[in-house]
Amino acid sequence: MQALSRIMLTFLSEFSLIDRYSSQRRQPHHSAILGIGDDCALLAARPGHELAVSTDMLLEGCHFFADVPPVTLGHKALAVNLSDLAAMGAEPRAFTLALALPDTGTSRQDWLDAFSHGLFSLADRYSCELVGGDTTAGPLNICITVFGDVPCGQALRRDGAQPGDDIWVSGALGDARLALGALRNEWPLTIDQLPALRHALQMPEPRIALGIALRGIAHAALDLSDGLAGDLSHILRRSNVTAHVDVDALPRSAALREQPLSIQYRCAIEGGDDYELCFTAPSSQRDTLLALIPRIGISLTRIGTIDTLSDLDKGNTSVTNLYKAHWYDSSGSPIDTTWRSFDHFYEK
Ligand SMILES: [Mg+2]
Repeated sequence: MQALSRIMLTFLSEFSLIDRYSSQRRQPHHSAILGIGDDCALLAARPGHELAVSTDMLLEGCHFFADVPPVTLGHKALAVNLSDLAAMGAEPRAFTLALALPDTGTSRQDWLDAFSHGLFSLADRYSCELVGGDTTAGPLNICITVFGDVPCGQALRRDGAQPGDDIWVSGALGDARLALGALRNEWPLTIDQLPALRHALQMPEPRIALGIALRGIAHAALDLSDGLAGDLSHILRRSNVTAHVDVDALPRSAALREQPLSIQYRCAIEGGDDYELCFTAPSSQRDTLLALIPRIGISLTRIGTIDTLSDLDKGNTSVTNLYKAHWYDSSGSPIDTTWRSFDHFYEK
C-alpha cells in the first residue's frame, strides 16, 4: 500500500508537471469552459459545428524506437492525432493525454520536460489546449485523444469518393519509411540524407491548413498513416468504388528517387507514417486545387482516378481484394504486384 501511494504521488506530481508546463505557455487557449482539475473537462459546442474526435496510441518498440528523443516523441504523439483532424477538415481545439511511464528514477523528470516541450510547442501552434489526462506506471505508452471543430455537414469523410474523381496526395510519400529502413539497416543512406529523412519520420507536420481548405472541394479524404495502398483501400471500400493509380506519378523526394525502384515503391506505396493527406475531388476542381499550393505551401499531386467497380472486381470473393486499387506505370501498363499496408505489428 505504501509503495502504491508512493507511485501515485509520484505520478500525480508528474501530471502536475505537465499541467504546470501547459499553464506556462505563452497563450491560454480558452477552449474549455472547464479544463484540468475536475473530474471532467467541459467543452461548449460551437454553434453550427460538429465535434470531431480521434484517438491514437504510440507504444515503445512498436511505433517508435526506445532511444527516440523525447522532444520529438512529444511532437509526434500529438501530430499523428492532429493529422486525423486534418483528414476530416477539422480545426484543432483540445486534447487529452494518457501516459504510461517506466520507473526510471530521476531521469524521468528530464524526459517529461523534453517530451512536454515537443508536445506543447506543436499544441501552441494550433491553439490546441490540454484539457485532461492520466498517468500510470508501465512500458512507455502515449495515448492522445484530440477534439476539433468542423462546420456541420462539411467534414471530409472516406465514403464520398465518386467515379470520375481525381485522386490527389499532398507532399512527398515514403520518406518516413525510407528513414525507418535505414535505421533498421534494411538499406543504406548517405550521411547527408539521413537528417531530413529522420525529420520526416520523427517530426511529421499535420496538414491542418490543407484539410480546412479542402472543405467543399474534396469528395473524400484521409491521412496516410499506414501507407498509400492500405489507406486508399479504406476510401475505396467505404465509397464502394475502385481506383486506377499511376505509380510513376507518386511524389517522391530526391533521396527516395536515388534508391532502386523496388525500394521506391515499397516506401511510397506500402510505407507508413507519411501523414500526408490523400483525397479525391472532381476534375472540375483541378485549377482550384493547383491554386491552393502557393497559399498553403504544400505540394499537391494528382496520382490517379476513381472508377466504378468492374465485373472483374466484383468477382473477387475477398473484400480486401475487391477494394484494392489497380496500379499502372506511366505508359499505362498494369503493375501486377500485391502491395500490403504498413503493419506496425508485422513490421517490427
Ligand atoms: Mg487517420
